[in-house]
Amino acid sequence: MIPPGATIGILGGGQLGQMIALAAAQLGYRCHVYAPEADAIAADVCAASTRGAYDDTAALAVFAAQCAVVTYEFENVAAAPLAAITPHAPLHPPIRALEVAQDRVAEKSFVEPLGGRPAPWMAVDSPADLAVAVARIGTPGVLKTRRDGYDGKGQWRIMAPADADSLDWPGVPLIYEGFVTFFGEFSVILVRSADGAIRFWDSAHNEHENGILARSTVPAPAAILAQVPAARALAAKVADALGYVGVLTLEFFATDQGPVFNEMAPRVHNSGHWTIEGALTSQFENHVRAICGLPLGDTALVGSGVVMDNLIGDSARDWPAILSDGANHLHLYGKAAVRPGRKMGHVTRLVP
Ligand code: AMP
Repeated sequence: MIPPGATIGILGGGQLGQMIALAAAQLGYRCHVYAPEADAIAADVCAASTRGAYDDTAALAVFAAQCAVVTYEFENVAAAPLAAITPHAPLHPPIRALEVAQDRVAEKSFVEPLGGRPAPWMAVDSPADLAVAVARIGTPGVLKTRRDGYDGKGQWRIMAPADADSLDWPGVPLIYEGFVTFFGEFSVILVRSADGAIRFWDSAHNEHENGILARSTVPAPAAILAQVPAARALAAKVADALGYVGVLTLEFFATDQGPVFNEMAPRVHNSGHWTIEGALTSQFENHVRAICGLPLGDTALVGSGVVMDNLIGDSARDWPAILSDGANHLHLYGKAAVRPGRKMGHVTRLVP
């Protein structure tokens, strides 16, 4: 057990790290953020920060030596250099979870033997591979970068074989997926402690715009709720197989044939921001509890429902109007520059 008063290291300096640090502070922990950028917003609410590259093993070792435990809020970091952390402090979730979740081929290959059902897929390393994949899987489909994709970046819709022929070749490892006809998207967010106890939050119905999460609603519609037990069973198997400690997210498409696995994130997730006000214990607090070996908090929904809207790009400028309704819980991440498609904050409303 890592008692309150100790220092938690956080790799990554974005809003997820910021919200982990706020939850940690409430429990009496100090946080030390490690991030490459000069203006890491998580550092604004942490006791200490280190600016360093994710592959600088010497800097990572110095950082870890100052922490009782280290976690991460960002999975697009090379896994191998993180071995510099573990001689100094435990790293949760495990590096293996990061390796699996950061590569779309690895994550699909990992869930399939556990009973997960992704869209039909094929790894693509060349235009010739893509032609084979399109012939085998058909169109429409989505070509995605295997790594480093987020918020719909690194994706190309292939509506017809001609689209594949005319593509500007990205020159990185890719994956081609058949297009899934879904009636909704939802996520399963769980927390697992080192002794194997697992708790789930209610699954949110997630609506995306331009590949970016726009809104999460709890409870999800009944047709989605019917698919949650099977999705939870898969998520628990994934967590157990990884010896996972902390919060884990799996995203699914709800289809007439049941839940189709989309992707996983080895971390707290945007579709769980509603838990700050909408659950007895938030995803951020339970992540801290799990990585520190504290008892997990109750994940039950507060009230009868909750809606979380992301404030993307210019929509964050509406904050005065949002605050004029006293029922809104406004979160602004303090990012200096507003850019189209950038997550600037979110607003949560509880349904009494
Ligand atoms: P991802 O980054 O893979 O989560 O993709 C972002 C969003 O694009 C998803 O939440 C879906 O709305 C959409 N999308 C991604 N892959 C597919 C697919 N194979 N079929 C249909 N929609 C998809």
